[in-house]
Amino acid sequence: MRWPGTPVEHLSRFQPHFCPRRECPEHVRAAPGYRFRRIGYYATRRRWRIPRFLCLTCQGSFSRQSFAVSYYCKRPELLRPVAAGLVGGSAHRQLARALGCAPSTVDRMAARLGRHALLLLARARGELAGRVAEPFVLDHFETFEFTQDFPFGVATLVGSRSWFVYDLDPAPHARAGRITETQRQRLAERPRRPRSGGYLGSTRRVLDHLVSLASPDRPLSLRSDGHPAYDQAVAEHPARARFALERYPNPPRGPKGSPRSPEARLRDARLFPVDLLHKILRHSVAHHRRETIAFGRRLNALMERLFLAAAWRNFVKRRSERTRRSGTPAMALGLTTEPWDWRKVLSRRLFPARQPTPATWAFLYRRLWTTPLFPTNSRHQLKRAF
Ligand SMILES: [Zn+2]
Repeated sequence: MRWPGTPVEHLSRFQPHFCPRRECPEHVRAAPGYRFRRIGYYATRRRWRIPRFLCLTCQGSFSRQSFAVSYYCKRPELLRPVAAGLVGGSAHRQLARALGCAPSTVDRMAARLGRHALLLLARARGELAGRVAEPFVLDHFETFEFTQDFPFGVATLVGSRSWFVYDLDPAPHARAGRITETQRQRLAERPRRPRSGGYLGSTRRVLDHLVSLASPDRPLSLRSDGHPAYDQAVAEHPARARFALERYPNPPRGPKGSPRSPEARLRDARLFPVDLLHKILRHSVAHHRRETIAFGRRLNALMERLFLAAAWRNFVKRRSERTRRSGTPAMALGLTTEPWDWRKVLSRRLFPARQPTPATWAFLYRRLWTTPLFPTNSRHQLKRAF
């Protein structure tokens, strides 16, 4: 995957290759030959010579900053520490206190970083389309939005050998388990949530993505625990003949500390990559811990932070942190040649119109997935900083 290491803010000889304005026909240009004119510089308190340009097609002007992840940011220096803090177990207000900014700044940056990570993953998937030869491991990661009355799973699709996170897709579902009478009454008063097909719907969407990723000349191997939604989604899929679904149902486990049965050992070995991802998320993302007072308010915002964690897991975090030589999942797939740092992850702004994204991801990007508990759900509908 071609991706620059130097942040665009540091390039004094920067030249645009397309127009950053969404409405301009030159916005989606992929070939060289974009026509622009230099129209001087401007200065801010942080940088003294930021080049400006004029698009010769739409006559709109823009600057080098239009191509930076920090576009429109008042505190651009916070982007990297916020990204690192969010996947380092810090909650938003802890970060705000440590970095000396308002909690709302961290909220907005988390959303911006999540959108960037989403587009970065979409770009990686574009590179990988039709090339993935390893078996896939699928499981849902369980969490909730605002209250445990509103649980949802997130389908996590992981490569069995590379441990690369290929897909995230939400699956809202009903509250499970034993419910007391008080809880039942409270549940009845809660607003209804759109489910988007629950486990089955999210599995269907993941299977569609999976078919586009997998190498066409190999059997498409998918491992999962025996959730009935996975069986049904595979059985009903138009490309079902290509799938080889391996099922490893969770076997009954004895009391804590008792030795694992052979079935349990096999299940744990085959589903290890996805179990590991879930452990990393529970350990590294503050609101996914057990016994915490941090909690996610909105499914959409939770998904943004999961995309950020997935980008970190794929490109930044080495598979083993004990050995220096260990590479990242993206290196195992041949996407990258070295572990990235946050500076590299955030070196360029990505534009949704230039990046084909699955429909669910595009929906999440616009923050259209609402949580009906709140009177208002802010959308992402900025004109320029979209
Ligand atoms: Zn233009």
